[in-house]
Amino acid sequence: MRDHRTLAVFGGSKAFAEPLHVGRPNIGDREKLMARFGDILDRRWLTNDGPMVRAFEAKVAELSGVRHCVAICNGTIALEIMIRAAGLAGQVIVPSYTFVATAHALQWQEIQPVFCDVDPATHNLDPARVDALVTPRTTGIIGVHLWGRPCDVEGLEEVAKRRGLTLLFDASHAFLCSRKGRMVGGFGSAEVLSFHATKFCNAFEGGAILTNDDDLAEKSRLMRNFGFAGKDRVIYLGSNGKMTEVCAAMGLTSIESAPEFIAANREHWLRYKRRLAGLPGLSVIEYDPAERNNYHYVIVEVDAAKAGLTRDQIVQVLESENVLARRYFAPGAHRMEPYKSEQPLAGFVLPVTLRLAETVFALPSGSAVGAAEVEAVCDIMETAIANAAAVAAKL
Ligand SMILES: *Cc1c(COP(=O)(O)O)cnc(C)c1O
Repeated sequence: MRDHRTLAVFGGSKAFAEPLHVGRPNIGDREKLMARFGDILDRRWLTNDGPMVRAFEAKVAELSGVRHCVAICNGTIALEIMIRAAGLAGQVIVPSYTFVATAHALQWQEIQPVFCDVDPATHNLDPARVDALVTPRTTGIIGVHLWGRPCDVEGLEEVAKRRGLTLLFDASHAFLCSRKGRMVGGFGSAEVLSFHATKFCNAFEGGAILTNDDDLAEKSRLMRNFGFAGKDRVIYLGSNGKMTEVCAAMGLTSIESAPEFIAANREHWLRYKRRLAGLPGLSVIEYDPAERNNYHYVIVEVDAAKAGLTRDQIVQVLESENVLARRYFAPGAHRMEPYKSEQPLAGFVLPVTLRLAETVFALPSGSAVGAAEVEAVCDIMETAIANAAAVAAKL
């Protein structure tokens, strides 16, 4: 173990000269990407449902086992279009423990997100708590497959069916993940993927709506392109949610390298798990080995009483070493604007969310990180926790 006085918080030099990021982009095969860029320029077909976008959609639909994939410029606009195409209005039940875009996509179209608590074991919506929040104004539920671990889909389906609600999913984290052997993409009425640069597979910026509902797919396609149903013929209120050809080229190239990204992620996750298992008060969340997982997120829960340091103190120690660990998802969407002002009492029904927002953090992983770096990050945490009292006094 390192001498704790060598830690940066005690004046030692930083473990990393350059910042080590969570979600540093995975880059696939450069030559294939450049060849695709060349094709795009040769064709002079840069956007508007081009061949690259169509190939991307076909690939995502095939891998996710769904009939339709509608590629969108990013995940947030994909959520907005999915919500609108599905006809949601009034109130929609969502977790607060998610990236704020899940709630924003509703509020943006004047639908009230009603924040529901999550299951402490899975970090996903708790169907019984969803049921308790349904009012006459509720029209839908949006589950988030957090960290790529799918929601209790059957539990949410039961509530949605009994209450006459539309069930949708924000599957931004869950591309190429499965539940009970079924790939994410076909659950609920529709699901949204994000291909943002920081996600497991990326299209620089990108998103997709996946559905087996022909009508919902058709509406989504119209809304993506101003409602155009043909030349000069607009039959619907639409926006501009089109994915460009270069983004689709990146997306396709990224997907081709997905097996390598998964292998790197899994190796890092296993290494962190092995190294942190011996430390008191730290636990790395599990992925079900019987399912398909992308292992993109290495998520740690801190029990401060056992670790001797709080989550924030551990993150502070890591940051001082240039390890930019992230407090995902603190403080919770309900404590961000405009929800904080509009729904000041939301937190009363969110005890698990409030706890997770204080105890969880994410560690660097992915193909941009090497085994030696993971070991060094673990060394820092090991040293800090073994000398918790001295470290806490120094902070
Ligand atoms: C990334 C993310 C989004 C937004 O996706 P963008 O492609 O960045 O717009 C939405 N929800 C969750 C849970 C996300 O992680």
